[in-house]
This record gives sequence, structure tokens and C-alpha cells, in this order.
Amino acid sequence: MSRDRTAPLLLTPGPVSVSMTTKTVMLQDRASGGDEFQADLACARDYMVSLVGGQGAYTAVPLPGSATYANEAVITGLVPPGGKLLIHTNGVYGDRLIEICAHARIAHATIRTPPFTPPTADQFEAAILADPAITHVMVVHCETSTGVLNPIEAIADVCRKHTKGLFIDAVASFGAIPIDAKRLGFQAVTVSSNKCMQGVPGIGWTVVQKTALENAKGNCGPLVLDLWDQNQHMDRTSAFRFTPPTQVLAAFAQACREHAEEGGTLARLERYRRNWRRLVDGMRQMGFATVVPDECASPIVATFHNPDDPAFSFNALFEGMKRRGFIIFPGRLALADTFRIGCMGDVTEADMADAMTAVAETMHEMGITSLGHTDLVAAD
Ligand SMILES: *Cc1c(COP(=O)(O)O)cnc(C)c1O
Repeated sequence: MSRDRTAPLLLTPGPVSVSMTTKTVMLQDRASGGDEFQADLACARDYMVSLVGGQGAYTAVPLPGSATYANEAVITGLVPPGGKLLIHTNGVYGDRLIEICAHARIAHATIRTPPFTPPTADQFEAAILADPAITHVMVVHCETSTGVLNPIEAIADVCRKHTKGLFIDAVASFGAIPIDAKRLGFQAVTVSSNKCMQGVPGIGWTVVQKTALENAKGNCGPLVLDLWDQNQHMDRTSAFRFTPPTQVLAAFAQACREHAEEGGTLARLERYRRNWRRLVDGMRQMGFATVVPDECASPIVATFHNPDDPAFSFNALFEGMKRRGFIIFPGRLALADTFRIGCMGDVTEADMADAMTAVAETMHEMGITSLGHTDLVAAD
């Protein structure tokens, strides 16, 4: 994984930085058929299914677009007429699932928990018992707007007990946090080509139970989002229905090979954990405070409070970091002045250590030499 150090390193929760070898496969024109395309498509689809241990019972369906396209495809396709979707939200991405339902006029109910509070299984059970019309449940695994990890195992147990179909927005976790199809029995998970899979952005993936997909035949309103149709077409012809993003798919197949070479999901999780640890320790040593309690934080992204010092400005931090080769991200929550630093992508602990030096230097530039009782020096 060699890095192009002329471009800034993205320390954002998406898009994320991608290895040079993954970028490089995009340099040639690529046809939408032929051996190479078909091999890349088959390799990518098989790999996505194998990552959840879903061989045989599941299929992986790519759609051109960002991951929201996959979420919209799942919601508009897999909730049957007369069905009702229970959605949990504790952040921006849960809210977006509700917005999709509202747009598509799909009956839905919601469970809302505060931004830093994962829901409990009891809350799902109570909502399901209170509303017999509910047929399906959807949750965000890692809520990227905060980094909170929601308890999908406990939620899956409730869905299984009450025979409700489960959809998981695993866009910010798939590839770095284990997701087991047999354990969870989900009907669908949605995934980005970028984020933890470290391909380039441009494909929204769905890994879906074949029986659920078969039941969805003819159900999806928008033609372009019809997972059933895209899947049957790809199974028959090894092609997309419409012009595929050929470079993005080639890069994704390469990203899958690199994911496997790294050692798979657990190895990637370990690297992201080291990044997160180095980041959070380094920031705390400088006096910054994290927003999310460590117990429900995921190693995908960390959210920090803006320091109280009147000399602090997020824009100055952003610009100073950018000049030093790092892109960071503002917070997404209305309730607090926060900013985020991502740990995903082609990023190592050594990169994080460099980023901590860059934070300390930028703070000095702002004239801030200590936060709280802590002198602002980057530790190594
Ligand atoms: C990134 C992300 C999405 C999809 O966002 P896009 O902008 O459509 O790529 C959905 N859910 C979660 C949890 C995400 O992190």
C-alpha cells in the first residue's frame, strides 16, 4: 500500500483515502463486458457475500451511486405493499432512512434515542409489540455522525423472536467490524464501495438474502433501484443493466483483494483500532475531550469538543491541518460545537502520529499553548 504523499490524507468519515494500487487500476479505459469486467464483477460479488459468511443463501448486488442509493433500494424494494418499517435513529444517518421512507411514502415507525445513546433490545421489543403492522426493522450499525456503534446482535435477536425482517445500514462498518449473516439472520445489509472497504466512491452495495429478494420481485418503484432486476440480470449476463461505473468496479475488485491480503475484516479492525487509539490518546494528551463515551465508540471516527479557548477556530484548525497534509471534518450535530477525525481508509498509526504533530503545531499557530491543565505538545 504505497501512498501518494502529494495529495492530502483524508482523515474524514467518508470519502476515505484509498491505496495507490487501487487508484491505479482506474487509469485505463474499461469496457462494460468481456473477461476482465466479468472476472472483477464475480470476484467482488463473491467476496462481499463471503465477508458475512453468506455463501449460498445471500447475493451481493451493486448499484451505481453512493451508499444512500443502496439504502433507498432496500427500503423501496424489500418492504412489501402493506408492510411497515421500524427505524431506529440516533444521528444523521438514521434520520436519512426516515427521510427515504417519507419520500417514498413507505409506512414507518421510529425509535429515537439521544445521539450518544445506543438503543436497547427492549425498546425494539416494545415498539414491535405496540404496532402489529410492523413487518421490518432497520438500524444503522455504526452511526457515522458520532461514531456510536449500535447493538445489532441484540436487535437481531428481537427480530428473529418476532419474525421481522432486519435491514442493517452497515455503510460505515462493513469490512472493518464483523457482521455474521448466520448469527444475525438479516435480510439485507448496505455497504459503500468506499469507507471501510477502501474502494473509490461510486457503488452502493447490498448483500441480500436470496429468498427476501425473490419475494421483492416487481415491488420496487424506481427502475434504476430495482435490486431484484439488477440481480437477476447480473446472474444471467454478468453485466449491469445500464452502463456500469467500470473504473469504480475495477478499483473495488482490487480493494477486495487488498482487504483479503491485509488479513480480512479482523485485521482491518485492528489497524483502525490502533489508529483510533493513537488519535484519541494523542488528542486527550493535548487536552481535547471526546464526545462519545469509549464504551459505545467505534474505531471508525472520533468526535471531539471544540476547546473552550476563545482563540480556537475550527476553520483555522482545518486550514492548518490541510497545509500539513491532512483533511479533517466538522461535526454534524446541532447540539454541540464539535469536529471529527476519521480513522478509516488507507491510514496507519504512523500517519495518525504525524496528524497529532500537525494538530499541536496548528494550535500553537492559533496562539493556544495549553488546554485546561495540559501543555500542548504532541506526544510521540
Ligand atoms: C456514509 C454513510 C451512508 C451513505 O452516505 P452516502 O453519502 O450516500 O455515501 C449511509 N449510512 C452511513 C452509516 C454512512 O456512514
